[in-house]
Amino acid sequence: MALYNAKRILVTGGAGFIGSHLCTRLLRDGYEVLCVDNFFTGARDNIKELLDNHSFELLRHDITFPLYVEVDGIYNLACPASPIHYQFDPIQTTKTSVLGAVNMLGLAKRLKLPILQASTSEVYGDPAIHPQEESYWGNVNPIGVRSCYDEGKRCAETLFFDYRRQHNMRVKVARIFNTYGPNMHPNDGRVVSNFIVQALQGKDITIYGDGSQTRSFCYVDDLVDGLRRLMDTRDDFTGPCNLGNPKEFTMLELAEMTLDIIGSKSKIVYQPLPSDDPKRRKPNIDLAKQELNWQPGIPLREGLTKTIEYFSRRLVSQKTP
Ligand code: NAD
Ligand code: UDP
Repeated sequence: MALYNAKRILVTGGAGFIGSHLCTRLLRDGYEVLCVDNFFTGARDNIKELLDNHSFELLRHDITFPLYVEVDGIYNLACPASPIHYQFDPIQTTKTSVLGAVNMLGLAKRLKLPILQASTSEVYGDPAIHPQEESYWGNVNPIGVRSCYDEGKRCAETLFFDYRRQHNMRVKVARIFNTYGPNMHPNDGRVVSNFIVQALQGKDITIYGDGSQTRSFCYVDDLVDGLRRLMDTRDDFTGPCNLGNPKEFTMLELAEMTLDIIGSKSKIVYQPLPSDDPKRRKPNIDLAKQELNWQPGIPLREGLTKTIEYFSRRLVSQKTP
C-alpha cells in the first residue's frame, strides 16, 4: 500500500519495457510515481494495471522538451533501446539522449534532486577488452548506424558528470547490459523477443552471422532491483556502474534453449550480421557487488520460461477477437 505523503518519483520512459517494471516496483516500495512517456516504443498496455492506482500518474510528454513538475527523484529511462527502433529516426534518438538529459538534469538541478541515468553497455561499442569493466573507455564507431544510440548515450553520461562537477549534483549512472522479460515489444527485433515469437509461431529462428557472438542476458526483475539499489547509494557514489548478468551465452545457445523450452520444431536459419554488431559482451559486475551488494539471481532458463509465458499469453489474446 502506498504511504501517505510518500516521495514522488519521476520515471521517464515509464511505459516502456524496463520502465513499466520500475514503476510497478516503486509503487510496491511505497512511492508515488509520475510516469512520463511519449509512447514512441512504450504502450499503455504495459502500465494498464497501474492506471487505477491513486499513487500513479501518467503524463504524455517528449523529454526533448523541457518539463516543469514537482518530484523528489528522477529515473531517466526514456530512449528507444532496440536497434530497429533507435535507427528508425536516428536524429530523434540522439535528441532524446542528449536534449532529454539536459532537460532532466535541469529539472533535477532546479529541485536539487538525485537523478539516475539509464546508460548502456553500448558505450563500450565493440569492446576490445573482455569482460567489460567501468574503467574501459570503449571502442565506438562515431559515424555508424548504431552511433545515434551509442554516442547519444555517451554524451548523456558526459552531461551527467559535468552537471555533477559544475553543480555538485547527486547523479547515478547505470550501464545496463542486455535485459529481457515480460513487456518487451514483440516486434522490436531484439534477439530474445525475436527468437521466442518465431519459435511460438513455428517460424524459422533467424540467427544473424554464425551465432557465435555472445551476449549476457539479465532478467528484468534483477535489473530493476539493481537500479533501485543504485539510486539509494550514498551521495558520493555516482557510478558509472555496470548492471547485467555476467553469464555469457552465444546466440546459437540462446536459440537452442528457446526451442527446447517451447518444444518448438522451428528451424534455425542464418542471416547476415548487421553492421557494427558487437562480437562479445559480458559485464564485470564487481563494482555493483561491492557498492550495491547486488548480483542477478535469476538464471537464463528460468527468466526465459517466464518471458515465453508472457509472449504466449500475448499472442493468444491477439488472436482472440
Ligand atoms: P523501451 O523502448 O521499451 O522503453 C523506452 C521508453 O521511452 C518507451 O516507453 C518510449 O516510448 C519512451 N521514449 C522514447 N523516447 C522518448 C522521448 N523523447 N520522450 C519521452 N519518452 C520517450 O526500452 P527499454 O528496453 O525499456 O529501455 C529503457 C532504457 O534502458 C533506455 O534508456 C535504454 O537505453 C536503456 N537500456 C536498455 C537495455 C535493454 O536491454 N532493454 C540495455 C541497455 C540500456
Ligand atoms: N540477433 C540474432 N537474431 C535476431 C536478432 C538479433 O541473431 O533475430 C543477434 C544480433 O545480431 C546480436 C545479438 O543477437 O548479435 C543481440 O541483438 P539485440 O538486438 O538483442 O541486442 P544488442 O545487439 O543491442 O546487444
